[in-house]
Amino acid sequence: MSHTHVLHRSLRQTPPVAVRGQGVWVYDSTGRAYLDGSGGAAVSCLGHNHPDIQAAMHAQIDALSYAHTSFFTTEVAERLADRLVADAPAGISHAYFVSGGSEAVEAALKMARQYFVEIGQPERRHIVARRQSYHGNTLGALAVGGNAWRRAQFAPLLIEVEHVSPCYAYRDQRDGESAEQYGERLAQELEQTFERLGPGTVMAFVAEPVVGATAGAVTAVPGYFRRMREVCDRHGVLLIADEVMCGMGRTGTLYAIEQEGVTPDLITIAKGLGGGYQPIGAVMAQRRIVEAMQQGSGFFQHGHTYLGHAVACAASLAVQDVIRRDGLLARVREQGAGLRERLERALGGHPQVGDIRGRGLFMGIELVQDRATRQTFDPALSLHARVKREAMARGLMVYPMGGTIDGRQGDHVLLAPPLHHHGRRTGPIDRTPGRRH
Ligand code: PMP
Repeated sequence: MSHTHVLHRSLRQTPPVAVRGQGVWVYDSTGRAYLDGSGGAAVSCLGHNHPDIQAAMHAQIDALSYAHTSFFTTEVAERLADRLVADAPAGISHAYFVSGGSEAVEAALKMARQYFVEIGQPERRHIVARRQSYHGNTLGALAVGGNAWRRAQFAPLLIEVEHVSPCYAYRDQRDGESAEQYGERLAQELEQTFERLGPGTVMAFVAEPVVGATAGAVTAVPGYFRRMREVCDRHGVLLIADEVMCGMGRTGTLYAIEQEGVTPDLITIAKGLGGGYQPIGAVMAQRRIVEAMQQGSGFFQHGHTYLGHAVACAASLAVQDVIRRDGLLARVREQGAGLRERLERALGGHPQVGDIRGRGLFMGIELVQDRATRQTFDPALSLHARVKREAMARGLMVYPMGGTIDGRQGDHVLLAPPLHHHGRRTGPIDRTPGRRH
C-alpha cells in the first residue's frame, strides 16, 4: 500500500503506519510493537484503548455526539467542568472548553485582554513570556513561545510579545548563586520588563510550570513562581500557567502549578485532558475574571465550532474518573521517583548526557557534546533526532526536541509515559539495531 497524498510534517519521509494501540504499546502495519515512552507528545496519559474511556465514549456517541454551544450545553461538559474546578487551585471557578492546546492559549490571551477592557483598563495589552517556552503553533500562540527556530520563518509575528529569561538552572544559575538569589534575579528582570513596557500596560505573564517541548522537563528553582506571582501582583498583571503539556497529573498533582504554591489567574490545559481519545483543551479561569465579563458585556468574544464537543468531554471525564479511582497521582509520584533513579543509573555517567531532570512521569534528558563545559552539539548533528530514530528502530517512542533556545542549540529528549499500565503486548518488538523508519 503506498500513501502519497498526506502532507507529512517531515516532508521527505513517510512515517510508519500506526494501526493499533493497546495499553503502553502502539503497533504499526508490519506488526511491530513500539513502547509508548512519551505518550505521543505527553498526550496518551492512560495509554491506548483504555476500556473505561472507550465505554464512556461509546455511550456518549449513542446518546449525542455534537450540539453547538450557541444552542446547548451538555451534561458531560458540565460534569467535566465541575470535576476540573473542584480540584483546581483556589479561586478557579470555570472551565472554557476548546479543541486543543494552541486554542487554549489563544483563548486565555483573549480572555485576559477582554477582562482588562471590561474593567476599564484597555491600555493593558502587552504580553510577557519566557524565551524558553512553547505555547502552540497558531500565529498568536507561536508569537508567545520563545523558540527562535520555530518563529524565524514567520517573523514578523502578528502580535508582539516581550520575552524574558527562563528559569533554567542547569545553564543559567551562576556559580555560587543560591536558588533564592537566582529566583530573585529573574524576578527583578520581570519587574524591570514590566516597568520598561510602561506601568499599567502589561496584561499577562505566560509561563509553563514545567517547561516541556522546548527544553525537556525543566522545573523552576524553589520559590521562583512565588516571586514571579508577587511581581505580577504588584503590577496588576495576570499570571497564565500554560499546563498544556505538564498538567493533568503528569507531574504528580493534577495541576503542575500546585507544587509551586501559587495560584494563577488562568490555566491552560489540553493533551492529557483528553488522553488522546479526542482533541480537547480548556482554559481554567478565576472567578473574578469570569464575573467581570459576566457583569460587563456578558459575552466572551471568542468561540470555535467544536467547543465542548460532547464525545471529547465524555472521554475527558472518563480520564478524570480513572485518575481518581486508580489513585494515579500518588502512583505518578512513586513511579516518577523510580524512573528518575533508573535513568540516573543507566545514563547518569554517559558522556553525552548533561542533565536528567523533571518531575513525576515527565522527565527530560539534555544531550551535550561535553559534560564538563555543557557545550552542545553542532546543530547540524541534531542528536535528539538521532536518538529518536534509533529508539524507534528499537521499538521505543521518546519525544525529541531541538531548535534554538535563548541563542543556544537545544538537544533534549522527553519521556512522558502513560500514568499507568493496562493491556498486554500482543505483537513482536523488532529489536534489530539500526532498523530505521
Ligand atoms: N502549550 C504547551 C505548553 C505545549 O506543550 C503545547 C503542545 N506541545 C501547546 C501549548 C500547543 O498545543 P496543541 O499542539 O494541542 O495546539
